[in-house]
Amino acid sequence: MRFHDSMISLVGNTPLVRLNSVTAGIEATVLAKVEYFNPGGSVKDRIALRMIEAAEKSGELRPGGTIVEPTSGNTGVGLAIVAQQKGYKCIFVCPDKVSTDKINVLRAYGAEVVVCPTAVDPEHPDSYYNVSDRLVRETPGAWKPDQYSNPHNPLSHYHSTGPELWEQTEGRITHFVAGVGTGGTISGTGRYLKEASEGGVKVIGADPEGSVYSGGSGRPYLVEGVGEDFWPEAYDRGIADEIVAVSDKDSFQMTRRLAKEEGLLVGGSCGMAVAAALKVAERLGPEDVVVVLLPDGGRGYLSKIFNDEWMADYGFLDDSGPSARVGDVL
Ligand code: PMP
Repeated sequence: MRFHDSMISLVGNTPLVRLNSVTAGIEATVLAKVEYFNPGGSVKDRIALRMIEAAEKSGELRPGGTIVEPTSGNTGVGLAIVAQQKGYKCIFVCPDKVSTDKINVLRAYGAEVVVCPTAVDPEHPDSYYNVSDRLVRETPGAWKPDQYSNPHNPLSHYHSTGPELWEQTEGRITHFVAGVGTGGTISGTGRYLKEASEGGVKVIGADPEGSVYSGGSGRPYLVEGVGEDFWPEAYDRGIADEIVAVSDKDSFQMTRRLAKEEGLLVGGSCGMAVAAALKVAERLGPEDVVVVLLPDGGRGYLSKIFNDEWMADYGFLDDSGPSARVGDVL
Protein backbone atom coordinates (compact mmCIF):
# COMPACT_ATOMS: atom_id res chain seq x y z
CA MET A 1 0.00 0.00 0.00
CA ARG A 2 1.22 3.49 -0.76
CA PHE A 3 0.11 6.17 1.66
CA HIS A 4 1.39 8.99 3.82
CA ASP A 5 1.35 8.70 7.61
CA SER A 6 -0.29 12.12 7.91
CA MET A 7 -0.56 15.42 6.04
CA ILE A 8 2.71 16.44 7.65
CA SER A 9 4.71 14.19 5.36
CA LEU A 10 3.26 16.05 2.35
CA VAL A 11 5.05 19.28 3.26
CA GLY A 12 7.62 20.28 0.62
CA ASN A 13 8.69 18.51 -2.59
CA THR A 14 6.52 20.85 -4.63
CA PRO A 15 6.66 20.77 -8.44
CA LEU A 16 8.53 23.04 -10.85
CA VAL A 17 6.46 24.14 -13.85
CA ARG A 18 7.70 26.02 -16.91
CA LEU A 19 5.96 29.31 -17.71
CA ASN A 20 5.08 29.25 -21.39
CA SER A 21 2.87 32.25 -22.20
CA VAL A 22 3.80 35.23 -20.02
CA THR A 23 7.40 34.57 -21.11
CA ALA A 24 6.75 35.36 -24.81
CA GLY A 25 9.88 36.85 -26.39
CA ILE A 26 12.14 35.68 -23.55
CA GLU A 27 14.97 33.28 -24.40
CA ALA A 28 15.75 32.04 -20.89
CA THR A 29 13.83 29.15 -19.33
CA VAL A 30 11.56 30.45 -16.56
CA LEU A 31 10.32 27.84 -14.07
CA ALA A 32 7.79 28.35 -11.27
CA LYS A 33 8.10 26.54 -7.91
CA VAL A 34 4.43 26.07 -7.11
CA GLU A 35 4.07 26.17 -3.33
CA TYR A 36 0.28 25.86 -3.21
CA PHE A 37 0.84 22.12 -3.53
CA ASN A 38 1.78 22.09 0.16
CA PRO A 39 -1.01 20.64 2.38
CA GLY A 40 -1.90 24.02 3.90
CA GLY A 41 -1.72 25.66 0.49
CA SER A 42 1.40 27.75 0.95
CA VAL A 43 5.17 27.86 1.35
CA LYS A 44 4.63 28.57 5.07
CA ASP A 45 3.95 24.89 5.83
CA ARG A 46 7.70 24.40 5.51
CA ILE A 47 8.61 26.88 8.24
CA ALA A 48 5.74 25.77 10.49
CA LEU A 49 7.00 22.19 10.50
CA ARG A 50 10.63 23.05 11.13
CA MET A 51 9.95 25.73 13.78
CA ILE A 52 7.70 23.32 15.71
CA GLU A 53 10.10 20.37 15.49
CA ALA A 54 13.02 22.54 16.59
CA ALA A 55 11.03 23.81 19.59
CA GLU A 56 10.15 20.23 20.53
CA LYS A 57 13.84 19.33 20.44
CA SER A 58 14.94 22.35 22.46
CA GLY A 59 12.18 21.76 25.04
CA GLU A 60 10.52 25.15 24.41
CA LEU A 61 7.39 23.30 23.26
CA ARG A 62 6.32 20.44 25.50
CA PRO A 63 3.50 17.87 25.16
CA GLY A 64 0.12 19.57 25.54
CA GLY A 65 1.66 23.00 24.92
CA THR A 66 0.04 25.96 23.16
CA ILE A 67 1.41 27.78 20.14
CA VAL A 68 0.71 31.52 20.24
CA GLU A 69 1.54 33.63 17.17
CA PRO A 70 0.33 36.94 15.76
CA THR A 71 -0.63 35.80 12.25
CA SER A 72 -3.71 35.86 10.10
CA GLY A 73 -2.61 34.03 7.09
CA ASN A 74 -0.48 31.31 5.64
CA THR A 75 1.81 30.82 8.63
CA GLY A 76 -1.23 30.27 10.84
CA VAL A 77 -2.59 27.58 8.55
CA GLY A 78 0.75 25.75 8.49
CA LEU A 79 1.12 25.97 12.26
CA ALA A 80 -2.50 24.85 12.81
CA ILE A 81 -2.10 21.72 10.67
CA VAL A 82 1.20 20.64 12.21
CA ALA A 83 -0.05 21.48 15.72
CA GLN A 84 -3.26 19.44 15.48
CA GLN A 85 -1.38 16.43 14.12
CA LYS A 86 1.08 16.63 17.00
CA GLY A 87 -1.47 17.40 19.71
CA TYR A 88 -0.76 21.08 20.42
CA LYS A 89 -3.25 23.92 20.80
CA CYS A 90 -2.98 27.07 18.70
CA ILE A 91 -4.02 30.62 19.54
CA PHE A 92 -3.59 33.17 16.74
CA VAL A 93 -3.90 36.89 17.16
CA CYS A 94 -5.23 38.88 14.17
CA PRO A 95 -5.99 42.54 13.56
CA ASP A 96 -9.68 43.23 12.87
CA LYS A 97 -8.96 44.24 9.25
CA VAL A 98 -8.41 40.55 8.41
CA SER A 99 -11.27 39.03 6.39
CA THR A 100 -13.67 36.69 8.19
CA ASP A 101 -12.91 34.06 5.55
CA LYS A 102 -9.27 33.94 6.68
CA ILE A 103 -10.28 33.76 10.35
CA ASN A 104 -12.76 30.98 9.58
CA VAL A 105 -10.07 28.95 7.82
CA LEU A 106 -7.90 29.06 10.96
CA ARG A 107 -10.87 28.11 13.15
CA ALA A 108 -11.76 25.27 10.78
CA TYR A 109 -8.36 23.74 11.46
CA GLY A 110 -9.13 23.91 15.18
CA ALA A 111 -7.21 27.05 16.13
CA GLU A 112 -8.51 29.70 18.50
CA VAL A 113 -8.42 33.19 16.96
CA VAL A 114 -8.31 36.39 19.02
CA VAL A 115 -9.23 39.49 17.03
CA CYS A 116 -7.74 42.86 18.06
CA PRO A 117 -8.70 46.39 17.02
CA THR A 118 -6.54 47.88 14.24
CA ALA A 119 -7.28 51.45 15.25
CA VAL A 120 -5.18 51.55 18.44
CA ASP A 121 -1.50 52.43 19.05
CA PRO A 122 1.00 49.57 19.29
CA GLU A 123 1.44 50.55 22.99
CA HIS A 124 -2.28 50.16 23.75
CA PRO A 125 -3.07 47.07 25.90
CA ASP A 126 -5.52 45.82 23.23
CA SER A 127 -3.02 46.12 20.37
CA TYR A 128 -2.14 43.11 18.27
CA TYR A 129 1.39 43.06 19.75
CA ASN A 130 0.41 43.48 23.39
CA VAL A 131 -2.38 40.92 23.25
CA SER A 132 -0.10 38.24 21.81
CA ASP A 133 2.62 38.99 24.39
CA ARG A 134 0.06 38.82 27.19
CA LEU A 135 -1.33 35.50 25.92
CA VAL A 136 2.20 34.05 25.89
CA ARG A 137 2.75 35.19 29.50
CA GLU A 138 -0.62 34.03 30.77
CA THR A 139 -1.08 30.70 28.94
CA PRO A 140 0.58 27.73 30.65
CA GLY A 141 2.95 25.89 28.28
CA ALA A 142 2.80 28.70 25.72
CA TRP A 143 5.40 29.03 22.99
CA LYS A 144 5.66 31.79 20.39
CA PRO A 145 7.42 30.75 17.16
CA ASP A 146 7.97 34.38 15.99
CA GLN A 147 8.63 33.79 12.31
CA TYR A 148 10.34 37.18 11.98
CA SER A 149 13.21 36.28 14.28
CA ASN A 150 13.16 32.47 14.40
CA PRO A 151 16.32 31.09 12.70
CA HIS A 152 14.39 27.94 11.74
CA ASN A 153 12.33 30.01 9.31
CA PRO A 154 15.28 30.55 6.91
CA LEU A 155 16.78 27.20 7.94
CA SER A 156 13.66 25.35 6.75
CA HIS A 157 14.36 26.73 3.26
CA TYR A 158 18.08 26.01 3.53
CA HIS A 159 17.22 22.36 4.24
CA SER A 160 14.23 21.90 1.91
CA THR A 161 13.45 24.51 -0.76
CA GLY A 162 17.11 25.06 -1.69
CA PRO A 163 18.09 21.37 -2.08
CA GLU A 164 14.84 20.64 -3.95
CA LEU A 165 15.57 23.34 -6.53
CA TRP A 166 19.18 22.26 -6.97
CA GLU A 167 18.04 18.67 -7.57
CA GLN A 168 15.04 19.50 -9.74
CA THR A 169 17.13 21.66 -12.07
CA GLU A 170 20.07 19.23 -11.95
CA GLY A 171 22.25 22.11 -10.84
CA ARG A 172 21.35 24.22 -13.91
CA ILE A 173 19.48 26.98 -12.08
CA THR A 174 21.20 30.32 -12.74
CA HIS A 175 18.79 32.80 -11.08
CA PHE A 176 16.44 32.48 -8.11
CA VAL A 177 13.64 35.03 -7.66
CA ALA A 178 11.44 35.28 -4.55
CA GLY A 179 9.27 37.89 -2.89
CA VAL A 180 10.51 39.09 0.49
CA GLY A 181 8.25 39.17 3.56
CA THR A 182 9.99 37.89 6.67
CA GLY A 183 12.93 37.18 4.35
CA GLY A 184 13.02 33.52 5.31
CA THR A 185 12.45 32.12 1.81
CA ILE A 186 15.05 34.20 0.00
CA SER A 187 17.65 33.98 2.78
CA GLY A 188 17.56 30.21 3.32
CA THR A 189 17.00 29.14 -0.28
CA GLY A 190 19.44 31.74 -1.59
CA ARG A 191 22.18 30.68 0.81
CA TYR A 192 21.83 27.02 -0.10
CA LEU A 193 21.86 27.72 -3.85
CA LYS A 194 24.89 30.02 -3.57
CA GLU A 195 26.79 27.39 -1.62
CA ALA A 196 25.81 24.54 -3.96
CA SER A 197 26.76 26.55 -7.07
CA GLU A 198 29.85 28.09 -5.46
CA GLY A 199 28.40 31.53 -5.95
CA GLY A 200 27.08 30.92 -9.46
CA VAL A 201 23.38 31.39 -8.73
CA LYS A 202 22.17 34.99 -8.67
CA VAL A 203 19.51 35.74 -6.06
CA ILE A 204 16.88 38.39 -6.79
CA GLY A 205 14.36 39.73 -4.28
CA ALA A 206 10.97 41.00 -5.43
CA ASP A 207 9.47 43.76 -3.31
CA PRO A 208 6.34 45.92 -3.44
CA GLU A 209 7.09 49.55 -4.28
CA GLY A 210 7.14 51.41 -0.95
CA SER A 211 8.64 48.62 1.19
CA VAL A 212 11.99 48.98 2.95
CA TYR A 213 13.74 46.21 1.01
CA SER A 214 13.68 48.27 -2.17
CA GLY A 215 14.51 51.52 -0.40
CA GLY A 216 10.98 52.65 0.47
CA SER A 217 9.75 54.12 3.73
CA GLY A 218 7.09 51.49 4.36
CA ARG A 219 4.27 53.38 2.65
CA PRO A 220 1.11 51.35 2.02
CA TYR A 221 0.75 48.89 -0.82
CA LEU A 222 -1.88 46.26 -1.45
CA VAL A 223 0.10 43.10 -2.24
CA GLU A 224 -0.20 40.79 0.80
CA GLY A 225 2.51 38.81 2.55
CA VAL A 226 5.52 40.68 1.21
CA GLY A 227 7.38 43.90 1.93
CA GLU A 228 7.98 45.35 5.39
CA ASP A 229 8.38 48.63 7.20
CA PHE A 230 11.23 47.23 9.34
CA TRP A 231 14.20 44.85 8.86
CA PRO A 232 13.39 41.38 10.28
CA GLU A 233 16.13 39.18 11.74
CA ALA A 234 15.08 36.33 9.42
CA TYR A 235 16.28 38.40 6.45
CA ASP A 236 19.94 38.06 5.52
CA ARG A 237 20.83 41.49 4.13
CA GLY A 238 23.84 40.04 2.32
CA ILE A 239 21.99 37.45 0.24
CA ALA A 240 20.23 39.31 -2.60
CA ASP A 241 22.29 40.39 -5.60
CA GLU A 242 19.45 42.63 -6.66
CA ILE A 243 16.04 43.81 -5.44
CA VAL A 244 13.36 44.55 -8.02
CA ALA A 245 10.48 46.80 -6.92
CA VAL A 246 7.11 46.02 -8.49
CA SER A 247 3.95 48.17 -8.38
CA ASP A 248 0.62 46.84 -7.10
CA LYS A 249 -0.83 47.25 -10.57
CA ASP A 250 1.89 45.22 -12.30
CA SER A 251 1.69 42.58 -9.54
CA PHE A 252 -2.07 42.12 -9.85
CA GLN A 253 -2.19 42.25 -13.63
CA MET A 254 0.47 39.52 -13.77
CA THR A 255 -1.43 37.52 -11.12
CA ARG A 256 -4.49 37.52 -13.37
CA ARG A 257 -2.43 36.55 -16.42
CA LEU A 258 -0.98 33.56 -14.52
CA ALA A 259 -4.52 32.24 -13.95
CA LYS A 260 -5.73 32.99 -17.48
CA GLU A 261 -2.69 31.95 -19.49
CA GLU A 262 -0.72 29.48 -17.37
CA GLY A 263 -3.50 27.72 -15.41
CA LEU A 264 -1.97 28.98 -12.17
CA LEU A 265 -4.57 30.46 -9.79
CA VAL A 266 -2.13 32.06 -7.34
CA GLY A 267 -1.87 34.96 -4.89
CA GLY A 268 -0.76 38.53 -5.53
CA SER A 269 2.78 38.06 -4.25
CA CYS A 270 3.18 35.41 -6.97
CA GLY A 271 2.28 37.90 -9.70
CA MET A 272 4.74 40.31 -8.11
CA ALA A 273 7.53 37.72 -8.10
CA VAL A 274 6.85 36.69 -11.70
CA ALA A 275 6.82 40.34 -12.85
CA ALA A 276 10.27 40.72 -11.24
CA ALA A 277 11.49 37.42 -12.70
CA LEU A 278 10.48 38.47 -16.21
CA LYS A 279 12.32 41.79 -15.84
CA VAL A 280 15.45 39.80 -14.99
CA ALA A 281 14.87 37.11 -17.64
CA GLU A 282 14.48 39.70 -20.43
CA ARG A 283 18.20 40.42 -20.31
CA LEU A 284 19.27 36.73 -20.22
CA GLY A 285 20.01 34.12 -22.89
CA PRO A 286 18.85 30.58 -23.77
CA GLU A 287 21.29 28.89 -21.38
CA ASP A 288 19.85 30.66 -18.34
CA VAL A 289 17.38 28.97 -16.00
CA VAL A 290 15.35 31.35 -13.83
CA VAL A 291 13.32 29.86 -10.98
CA VAL A 292 10.59 31.98 -9.40
CA LEU A 293 8.88 30.85 -6.21
CA LEU A 294 5.08 31.19 -6.03
CA PRO A 295 4.16 31.26 -2.31
CA ASP A 296 0.40 30.54 -2.29
CA GLY A 297 -2.80 29.88 -4.21
CA GLY A 298 -5.35 32.41 -5.43
CA ARG A 299 -8.55 31.27 -3.66
CA GLY A 300 -7.93 33.64 -0.74
CA TYR A 301 -7.98 36.62 -3.11
CA LEU A 302 -11.18 36.03 -5.13
CA SER A 303 -12.93 39.12 -3.79
CA LYS A 304 -9.94 41.34 -4.50
CA ILE A 305 -7.48 40.54 -7.30
CA PHE A 306 -9.95 38.36 -9.19
CA ASN A 307 -12.85 40.78 -8.71
CA ASP A 308 -13.18 43.30 -11.57
CA GLU A 309 -14.91 45.92 -9.42
CA TRP A 310 -12.20 45.92 -6.77
CA MET A 311 -9.49 46.08 -9.45
CA ALA A 312 -11.29 48.91 -11.27
CA ASP A 313 -11.72 50.91 -8.04
CA TYR A 314 -7.97 51.09 -7.70
CA GLY A 315 -7.38 51.72 -11.39
CA PHE A 316 -5.63 48.40 -11.82
CA LEU A 317 -7.64 47.23 -14.83
CA ASP A 318 -6.50 49.83 -17.35
CA ASP A 319 -3.27 51.67 -18.01
CA SER A 320 -4.35 55.15 -16.99
CA GLY A 321 -5.93 54.97 -13.51
CA PRO A 322 -4.46 55.95 -10.15
CA SER A 323 -2.33 53.55 -8.15
CA ALA A 324 -3.18 52.53 -4.56
CA ARG A 325 -4.63 55.33 -2.46
CA VAL A 326 -2.25 56.10 0.34
CA GLY A 327 -3.98 55.64 3.67
CA ASP A 328 -6.22 52.80 2.59
CA VAL A 329 -6.48 49.99 5.08
CA LEU A 330 -4.74 47.06 3.46
N1 PMP B 1 3.93 35.70 -0.20
C1 PMP B 1 3.01 35.40 0.71
C2 PMP B 1 1.58 35.28 0.29
C3 PMP B 1 3.38 35.21 2.05
O1 PMP B 1 2.45 34.90 2.97
C4 PMP B 1 4.75 35.35 2.40
C5 PMP B 1 5.16 35.20 3.83
N2 PMP B 1 5.04 36.39 4.59
C6 PMP B 1 5.68 35.70 1.42
C7 PMP B 1 5.23 35.83 0.12
C8 PMP B 1 7.14 35.97 1.73
O2 PMP B 1 7.87 34.91 2.24
P1 PMP B 1 8.98 35.14 3.37
O3 PMP B 1 8.27 35.51 4.64
O4 PMP B 1 9.67 33.84 3.47
O5 PMP B 1 9.89 36.24 2.93
